[in-house]
Amino acid sequence: MGMLEEMPLSLDPEDVIAEFEAMTRDAGRVQIETLKKILEENGRTEYLQRWGLDGRTDPESYKSCVPLVTHEDLEPYINRIVDGDDSSILTGNPITTISLSSGTTRGMPKFVPFNDELMESTMQIYKTSYSFRNREFPIGNGKCLQLIYGSRQFKTKGGLAAGTATTNVYRNPLFKRTMKAMQSPCCSPEEVIFGPDFHQSLYCHLLCGLIQREEVQVISSTFAHSIVHAFRTFEQDWEELCTDIREGVLSSRISVPSVRTAMSKLLKPNPELADLIYNKCQGLSNWYGLIPELFPKTRYIYGIMTGSMEPYLKKLRHYAGELPLLSADYGSSEGWIGVNVNPKLPPEMATFAVLPNIGYFEFIPLRQSLDGLEAKAVGLAEVKAGEEYEVIVTSFAGLYRYRLGDVVKVKGFHNSTPELQFICRRNLLLTINIDKNTEKDLQLAVEAAAKVLAENKLEVVDFTSRVDSSTEPGHYVIFWEISGEASDEVLEECCNCLDESFLDAGYISSRKVKAIGALELRIVKRGTFHKILDHYVGLGAAVSQFKTPRCVGPTNNKVLQILCNNVVKSYSSTAF
Ligand code: AMP
Repeated sequence: MGMLEEMPLSLDPEDVIAEFEAMTRDAGRVQIETLKKILEENGRTEYLQRWGLDGRTDPESYKSCVPLVTHEDLEPYINRIVDGDDSSILTGNPITTISLSSGTTRGMPKFVPFNDELMESTMQIYKTSYSFRNREFPIGNGKCLQLIYGSRQFKTKGGLAAGTATTNVYRNPLFKRTMKAMQSPCCSPEEVIFGPDFHQSLYCHLLCGLIQREEVQVISSTFAHSIVHAFRTFEQDWEELCTDIREGVLSSRISVPSVRTAMSKLLKPNPELADLIYNKCQGLSNWYGLIPELFPKTRYIYGIMTGSMEPYLKKLRHYAGELPLLSADYGSSEGWIGVNVNPKLPPEMATFAVLPNIGYFEFIPLRQSLDGLEAKAVGLAEVKAGEEYEVIVTSFAGLYRYRLGDVVKVKGFHNSTPELQFICRRNLLLTINIDKNTEKDLQLAVEAAAKVLAENKLEVVDFTSRVDSSTEPGHYVIFWEISGEASDEVLEECCNCLDESFLDAGYISSRKVKAIGALELRIVKRGTFHKILDHYVGLGAAVSQFKTPRCVGPTNNKVLQILCNNVVKSYSSTAF
């Protein structure tokens, strides 16, 4: 380990907050300066020269010269970087690392540039939200059960290091130092985080947490899905975990030598601890309050709980008992956007204050673009509370006026910077003709129909959807994995409720005139969604960044196959 890595990093939460307050009081000016800095550093790149900025760095010139782009537009440039062209293509300093974004929507990962500036801003976001969190929920010295997983790292054809953004972050020495400064060092050794087999790593994370149960003060992951997944796994594996602790011998299911070696250093026979955990588990009713039982000093649960993670909140609350759920910040492989400075708000209400110095942000008003008018992006200082926007990012890592594809709503302001609520991905999920349904619409329909299940003490474990155009007319298909057996009667009611819960006028009118066929609800076997996760992990996706695709495109054959092969029952709506 180098000197730098060992040097303690000082972090005074009040200093961090003071800096944040000063910056957000003057957000408009900070934005102008940030753009200037980005353009000064990168003005000579091939990409920016192409648009004829000629050294100008003001927002007006920038917006009039440089077009709004999508990832697809930048792909030819990014691919040259990936293939080893180290001239100044998108950034002044050559890019040496590439992030693979989850790309769950396309079913194929996308490449985006990663650099030191991105790492710095990631740490700035972490430290800022930690400082606000620590005001409300102070923690002492202890450990954090971080359910995080590095994905495979590889070299691109051109010799660049490539991995998912979270992996690039976890591997960076600055990450460990920052976690230490935040009093949240990970319970598990690196061999576990970076183990090649996700199932084995998950098992060991749980084991490490249990061994150090008195020290654990925070349970976290990038996305809340990983936390729910971990405790669902615990429900299956708890007896085996207890046996390992009792005997001090690691289960033979852990076969990776580096992981075994690292774990054997931690594991000692401890029958008292094993008995204690065993008894606690036996005393629980339907695993309610599992987390505080296992980890009595936990102050809160932390991770991204908004957007496509909302459907897991119910289960997470069940495991968490009375513990608070704190929603983490808003960002993407392309860069960070906002920080949760109101950690006390429940995840459903969480907002993200835009950090005005980590990028230059623009917002396309959604109402306008839905009218079919030419979308005109406004600056951070010009957004209005109550309006919805698509987010545009200009970053220190080679993205200029890049459409992130997310829809956000301005809920209010922190000083003069907007506080954004995440609404959904902009892409429409379900559309056949004039109907338009987003991920959010699907989520709301599933929530409504799940109430029928809840009356029968059952829950939706996970869900996705597709458009089936093989029938005439086409129709929506919703796939559900549920927690137990439900009667046909109940599921028929759920199916009708789903159909009735899509409130989009285009959908309702099409259904009425049978221009869209009856919605179909297909129930899949328990464990089907774990198979889908495994499939994505096999493709190189990171479990840490995993988001269940809420709609499966017609070309996503493998996932369609997994779903269709596991259907146990199927229902057709009679609602219209
Ligand atoms: P990735 O491509 O894996 O980097 O994922 C980035 C995407 O995850 C963003 O564009 C959002 O759609 C989603 N995301 C990230 N942070 C949040 C958040 N706090 N709330 C909701 N969605 C988020």
